[in-house]
Formats: sequence, structure tokens, C-alpha cells
Amino acid sequence: MVDLSRGRRAAMRVTQRSAALYAALRAHPRRVAASVGSALLLSSAGAYALVEAQPQLPPRVTVATTFDANAQAQTAAIASADLHYAQSTLVRRQDTVQQLLRRLGVTDPAAVKQLGADARIRALVSAGATPEPVRALVNAQGELLQLSATLPLPADADTAPVWRELQVRAAADGGLDVSTTERQMATRTRLASVSVRGALSTALSQSGVPAPVGTQLIKVFAPQMDLRRTLRKGDQVALVYEMQTLDGREVRPGRLLAAEIRTRGTTRQAVWFASSGNAKGAYYTPAGQGMEKTWASSPLPGAKITSPFGMRLHPVKGRREMHEGVDYAAHIGTPVPSVAEGRVKFAGMQSGYGNVVKIGHPGGFETVYAHLSSIAVKPGQTVSEGELIGKTGNSGTSTGPHLHFEFHSAGRLADPQRMASLVPQGKPLPPGEKAAFFAATAVMRTQLAQAAGGDDAIRLARAD
Ligand SMILES: [Zn+2]
Repeated sequence: MVDLSRGRRAAMRVTQRSAALYAALRAHPRRVAASVGSALLLSSAGAYALVEAQPQLPPRVTVATTFDANAQAQTAAIASADLHYAQSTLVRRQDTVQQLLRRLGVTDPAAVKQLGADARIRALVSAGATPEPVRALVNAQGELLQLSATLPLPADADTAPVWRELQVRAAADGGLDVSTTERQMATRTRLASVSVRGALSTALSQSGVPAPVGTQLIKVFAPQMDLRRTLRKGDQVALVYEMQTLDGREVRPGRLLAAEIRTRGTTRQAVWFASSGNAKGAYYTPAGQGMEKTWASSPLPGAKITSPFGMRLHPVKGRREMHEGVDYAAHIGTPVPSVAEGRVKFAGMQSGYGNVVKIGHPGGFETVYAHLSSIAVKPGQTVSEGELIGKTGNSGTSTGPHLHFEFHSAGRLADPQRMASLVPQGKPLPPGEKAAFFAATAVMRTQLAQAAGGDDAIRLARAD
């Protein structure tokens, strides 16, 4: 909750004092300007402290210094208004510029109109909820005197961490000046060793690991295990991750670089590596095997199998013969994704199959999706894992809506229910990248060993 009344009383005191200063300023404008600036600086900082009751916000000195630097504008502002309110709010999901300004107490239609049309303010709001507050200084008439906010990270922030700040100031002509400043952030590496006692998120936060790093950790191991469910009391997690800093102050969590999970006697490790031509990078086992699963376990996970692979009495022909795939129950029109990356070998009508798509996958595998109601791909087209190739139907020789799915390995039919054990688990490093991988990840692996080497106690070390 925001204690506005206390903030307003503080602002009132500032104003009463300012009135006296303003009278003095008329007589000796230059000499008094600096002291008004510093009086305002102190009072504004105080008002911020009162207004901001949200405990998660770090104290910020930078805002106060901008007031000092702009003492002239401040003295002018005092002259034209009776009261000043220091306000702060967070950008909310689906906010509009107008809603944000209203929460900050800005009602001046000219300001609302100008800022509502400003691309930078719009970008701030359309980025959705941000952890950094938007701060404003507003007078009793609802006119905006000053506003500052941290702009969301640009898309390439991984490679070049930048801190972007937006400043709005009342200009001499009565309008508003909008400007942005950009500063390069530095990166610091941190190590953490976490003993799981209860929930993983609790254990991570107790050892100072930022929540976004925990989210990355869960995502990296997700293809192998759900850490939130599988970790038990006594399990160990070691982490190497980046923190982005500004003037030596840690302002934002960065990338998870390496992680180790020790659970009930087994150890799993993941190391981040950017191969040439892939700056975004990916996570690998220390041996260079990709962590990300490249094959889905089924085209329709969770769908009921109405007929398994193998010999059966054919439902239409009435004689015993080989069922060359697996049938999944599915309503007509259920989206069918490719189980893995590949190239479409056939897409069209084919006798008993009806509408059918056949996809060739690297490693000598082929998958077949039959009885479709519609086809979304063309022969020769490449598809990625999870990409829509068509929709289920009842075309061809079929007794009802379902998906007939076949899996071929090295030109032979195989049981689709055994597919997961036959296909590669992750994308391996390109052969030419092995040396670079081991060189680049050697430091991370040492740090991981360092972090994991601790005893049961939670340790937190820093390696700049
Ligand atoms: Zn079938």
C-alpha cells in the first residue's frame, strides 16, 4: 500500500519551505538557485521514501541526482505550482499510457496527449510488467514536471547488456522534453550451491539466486526432468550464472552458464555454449550432447491409443494382418505436429492412407501421419519439431476419426511406442565445434566443481 497522505504532508512541508525560498529567489536568483535545488533534492528523496512502501524496490540515488542537476527547472516549477507530489508506480500488464499517467497523478491533457503519442513511452508500456518503477514529479494541477523510467531490454540484450533510461522534463516552452540515455552494463559471474530442503524455489531464493535464474534452470533440465517435482530434501544444486552490473551494483540477473543437479545418487550437468553462427547458444552435457529434446515422444501426447502396432484383425478388411503404426483417438480437426525436424517427402492422397504426410528425419528416420482431414505442408518443405503439418480426420480406409502414425528406422517399420528409445536425445555439437566447446566451457566446469564442492551449508561465492 502507498501512504499518500504522509507523502503529501511531506510535499506540503517542502512547498511551505519553498515559498520562502521562492521569495528569496526573486531577490537573488543565482545565489539561491543552488540551495533550492539541494533543499528540493533532500525533500524529494524523503518523499520518495514515504511514498514507496513496496519493499522489493531497491533504493535509488540516481533519481535524486537528476533533480539536483536540474535545479533551474525545479525553481521555475516551484514558481508555477503550489504542491509537488513524488509518485511512483509499476507498469502493469496491458497498461495504456493514459492509465499509467493517471496512476502517477498526471491529468494535464496536453501532457497525456504528447506522451500518449511518444514511441518511447508507448514501448515502455507495451513491454508489459517491468520490475523497475516509473517515477514522476507532479504538481497540484496534475501537470508533469519530471518522469523517469527504465526502458525494457532490447531483443539482443544477451550479447550487449544495456541499461536504458527514459527521462521526461517540463520544457521552457510549456511542452515536455523526452530523452533516453543508454549505458553499457558489465557482467559478473556468481557461483551458488543450494541444498534442497523444501521447495526448490525457496531453496534458491534463500541462497540469493534470482528468480529468473531459477526459471532458466528449470527450463534447461525440463526435457529430462521436472526439477520442481523430482528434487527431494538433501538433493544439491550448483549454479554458475551471470549478474549484470551498473557502477558495480548488481542490477539484473543474466544468463545461467552452468548447472549441476545431484539427486539420489545421480548427477546431471548442463553447460551453456554458443557455437559459431548461433550467438543465442544452447545447453549441452559436459560431453557435448544437446540438452534440448529434438524428438517429441508422440505426435499427440496424452491421446488414447485405440490400436497398437503389430498383428491384429483388420477392422475393415476383416482378416489378420500387420498394423504398421499406432492409432490415436482424436476428434476431426485436431492439429497434428511433426514429431521432429525434417523434410516433407510426401503430402497428398494415397489409397488406404487417405490424406497422408510422410516426413524424412536426419539419422535415417521417417514418420507417417494418415487419415488427415487437411494437409498444411508441401513436398520438399522443411519442418521443425512441433510444426503443424495437418489436422486429424477420417479420410482413406478408416472406421472413424483417428490419427494413424507410423515410425520407420533405417527403412524398416518400428513400433512408434519405442520411438523415444531409438531416436537421438539431443542435438550433438557439430564435429568442428568440439575443441571450441571444451575450451569455452572449461572455466565454467571448474567453477561448477567449485560451487558443488561445498558441504551441506549454503555457500555463495563470487568470481569476477
Ligand atoms: Zn492405423
